[in-house]
Amino acid sequence: MSAGEVSPILFVEHQTPYTSVTHRVRKVVYAGTTQYQRVELLDTYDFGLCLVLDGKLQSSAFDEWIYHEALVHPAMLTHPHPRRVAIIGGGEGATAREALKHSCVEEAVMVDLDREVVELARRRLRFMHRGALDHPKLKLVFMDGRKFLEEAEHGFDVIIVDVTDPLAGGPSYLLYTKEFYDLASSKLTEEGVLATQATSTTYSLECFASIAKTVASSFPIARAYKAWVPSYSSEWGFVIGSKRHDPAKLSAKTIAERLRRRGVKALKFYTARLHRQLFTHPKYLEKALKERGRLIKDDQPIYMPA
Ligand code: SAM
Repeated sequence: MSAGEVSPILFVEHQTPYTSVTHRVRKVVYAGTTQYQRVELLDTYDFGLCLVLDGKLQSSAFDEWIYHEALVHPAMLTHPHPRRVAIIGGGEGATAREALKHSCVEEAVMVDLDREVVELARRRLRFMHRGALDHPKLKLVFMDGRKFLEEAEHGFDVIIVDVTDPLAGGPSYLLYTKEFYDLASSKLTEEGVLATQATSTTYSLECFASIAKTVASSFPIARAYKAWVPSYSSEWGFVIGSKRHDPAKLSAKTIAERLRRRGVKALKFYTARLHRQLFTHPKYLEKALKERGRLIKDDQPIYMPA
């Protein structure tokens, strides 16, 4: 293809059965199927290199740091002194990268189901993990995240759930249920905090509201929050469950102090002043979080609309 010519390759991401987002692809860098999922590395014109699992864009070079900073830092800063962190999923290693920025962390365990995805990330997504996959404080475990927590004996201060969206027949839908959040809560210390990605506030509002309701059924404090992620063409939802401290009550002063004391550097999205705004919702979203969604159970799972 000569310079200026545009490749005919299109990546079509279905958000619902009626709405899809199309990315024009310069080059398919990798495409394959592991024991658990279909994996693609797509070099796209507008968002650079993207990791796609089972047809869902996971992260892009253009803006992965928005999602990963939004997922990690509010929970890490809600805990006054997180020492042991569990990351469930997190295949690219970017969640681990962000958690390990907190100097108080003594040990992080990253539990991903799919060794092939992590090894591919180690080789081809260095700009995302930036060596975090080989960090001396990080222990890598390859197994189902729920089974790991069932077998884990000691408590974690923070559990970050960074798994794929709940897809029918996919590997992660049982990590969005009441049984899972009750299990996670039992593996957290008494000031423990859980954060989970909670899908799109636009295309899967029912799913987002249900995850928020279900976390709230397992934790005394539960807060839904969101951040716009350009490569997802959507505002993205997250939920924190906390056993003692309310993330939405943290002052910018306390956050700034904790960031400084822990030596958290190289942030591109999250700030002490932005924190509260993440938890401040427009009226329609407040209403939807109150009135929509249902309890997600193992025998009544929830799936993405597409
Ligand atoms: N940033 C992405 C997003 O937008 O949500 C997710 C990060 S990462 C690519 C998702 C990871 O979840 C994948 O590496 C996948 O292997 C892992 N995963 C899916 N189901 C899992 C399970 N049951 N236990 C552990 N890891 C799982």
